[in-house]
Amino acid sequence: MTLSSIHSLVLTAVQNVAADRLQKAVCGLADGSLVVTLTRQSDDEIRALVKNGDGKEYGVTLTESLTTCSCKDALYRGGVCKHAVGVALHVLRAPQPKRATTASQFLSFHLMWRDGIVLCGESHPDRVQVWPWTQGMLSWPEVCPSCVTAYQHPKPAIARAA
Ligand SMILES: [Zn+2]
Ligand SMILES: [Zn+2]
Repeated sequence: MTLSSIHSLVLTAVQNVAADRLQKAVCGLADGSLVVTLTRQSDDEIRALVKNGDGKEYGVTLTESLTTCSCKDALYRGGVCKHAVGVALHVLRAPQPKRATTASQFLSFHLMWRDGIVLCGESHPDRVQVWPWTQGMLSWPEVCPSCVTAYQHPKPAIARAA
């Protein structure tokens, strides 16, 4: 991934954000109330999970032409929300990985119920996304496929207890 392609991705978000949202994002990153975790980064797409000050987590996707977020601000009011611009700012200031971009490099994560049970049964998952998940998130390539299968085709309670 070249630096210029990163810049063209994040510039779309930064150039289209309203000043008050940009300010919220800068403040959130500075005081730690906005936490960005990149889950996928390629030449034409950046995806991340953004944890808000209220504990909610949102899925953000940045491409050259599109900036999306699963929060209500983005869904109802449109435009670039503070989460999306937060991701852009995070990417700009974060050191870039030196390795070539490959599928295995993506940070994969498991799905976890609120009671701590990982859907695929992994007992020591590196990364988890705690319920609730967005529908779109289930189709991300970085989500553990076994977890998605377990979610979409739940085993009968008897089988799970056995
Ligand atoms: Zn948002
Ligand atoms: Zn899993």
